[in-house]
Amino acid sequence: MSESTPPQADAAAPDPTTAAPGPTLVGRPFGELPLSPALLATLEQLEYRTMTPIQAASLPLALAGHDLIAQAKTGSGKTAAFALTLLTNLNPRRFAVQAMVLCPTRELADQVTQEIRRLARAADNIKILALCGGTTMRPQRASLEHGAHIVVGTPGRIMDHLDRGSLRLDALNTLVLDEADRMLDMGFYDDIAFVASQCPVRRQTLLFSATYPEGIERLAQQFLRNPQQVKLAEQHEGSKIRQRFYEIKHDERLQAVGTLLKHYRPVSTLAFCNTKQQCRDLVEVLHKQGFHALTLHGDLEQRERDQMLIQFANRSCSVLVATDVAARGLDIAQLEAVINVDVTPDPEVHIHRIGRTGRADEDGWALTLCSPADKRRVATIAQVTGIEPEWHGLGSLQGGDESPLVPPMVTLQILGGRKDKIRPGDVLGALTGEAGFTREQVGKITVTDQTTYVAVVRDIAREAVRRLSAGRLKGKPVKVRALGD
Ligand code: ADP
Ligand code: MG
Repeated sequence: MSESTPPQADAAAPDPTTAAPGPTLVGRPFGELPLSPALLATLEQLEYRTMTPIQAASLPLALAGHDLIAQAKTGSGKTAAFALTLLTNLNPRRFAVQAMVLCPTRELADQVTQEIRRLARAADNIKILALCGGTTMRPQRASLEHGAHIVVGTPGRIMDHLDRGSLRLDALNTLVLDEADRMLDMGFYDDIAFVASQCPVRRQTLLFSATYPEGIERLAQQFLRNPQQVKLAEQHEGSKIRQRFYEIKHDERLQAVGTLLKHYRPVSTLAFCNTKQQCRDLVEVLHKQGFHALTLHGDLEQRERDQMLIQFANRSCSVLVATDVAARGLDIAQLEAVINVDVTPDPEVHIHRIGRTGRADEDGWALTLCSPADKRRVATIAQVTGIEPEWHGLGSLQGGDESPLVPPMVTLQILGGRKDKIRPGDVLGALTGEAGFTREQVGKITVTDQTTYVAVVRDIAREAVRRLSAGRLKGKPVKVRALGD
């Protein structure tokens, strides 16, 4: 069966005109690649059974040592493509930074760090360090002094460490620019140029991007050597994403979101607005209507952003409202619906937005609210993406299930995290052991430096807080509270 397993359904199909040269390994097992037995065993454990299209196209080239420009949509498995390469290039017995990944934001750097840690866990003692802004330099400097094999960070902070001499790159063999398009959007060109200039000339450079704007070409020409290009066309399997356009009057827009939510009743929805102000206005309206909604915007403190993403990803918040910038690159696995509250003027952005739903064999709804003034934008989207828009009116949605939409889970916040040596297993143990809950009542557990978050089914949240507070975790009393509500 494994021989004929289809490729990961969430990934784009290669476009024959732009697909990479070389053998096609899409949907083939990782065992066909020159990877170490330890890495293959880890992939097996993680249930990464077959390669996604971008992995199949890029890994043979990257593992052969080529520089690479790889473009594929969000969620297509780009992280593992470069992580497997840099881990293969690594000598664990050499205590020096051998690989560096530049990411646009701290969240993305954290996600990448976690994925590399997961993939590296079978290998002995590989140290991976995240170097991002938002925290003080000193502990990072101390960690660097202890030695790291891989650093993942934002260009600004990496530059600071280079400036102060706390980070040395003379042993570097692999440089990765992840989400390169986004880094360019954020004005990181000069920082990237500086960081790259501090790397040894003999190295492998891998550039990953979701889109391919002009600046990428310039970046590649300057920092990559004879790069191979792997480009997977934006194609979603139409059958999985069901797209509907709703005609509304301009002043009905924010109210209409609640109407859609009540009708379709998705567990998790990402709602896109074109501006931050619109995000704030929408969240206010949704709260008044009784929805559990959160918004991501630039003015939040890092810890608040983390908390929001955790609550959304573990299904204790129904709607995350965001601009395109705020939502870029975030890996949210299960998303029943995407709502375009505002229509974007850019068809590529539209494709990206709706590509967030309908992943991993699940159906997804892509719902777009369209006032008369938006009609031209929809016409352009229809033309570029080759669809015939399916038009509906809000009237058809009235009179269904009017009960409030309630997320299935609640997030409990526990004081103490990685710094206190807390691991997910400890929390699961505390809940299912002494506290007497079942495994099925416990959802995602996320351990950050200082804080641990655990999702539990809504009915038991209160009781779980009570019983956890009465018990101990790692031998210490537990401070815990439920978030939101
Ligand atoms: P991208 O960087 O392209 O946006 P990610 O690297 O974040 O995508 O991957 C998206 C998700 O797919 C992650 O949750 C990752 O663990 C998972 N994934 C990656 N490769 C595979 C694979 N070969 N099989 C199954 N799941 C995979
Ligand atoms: Mg990525």
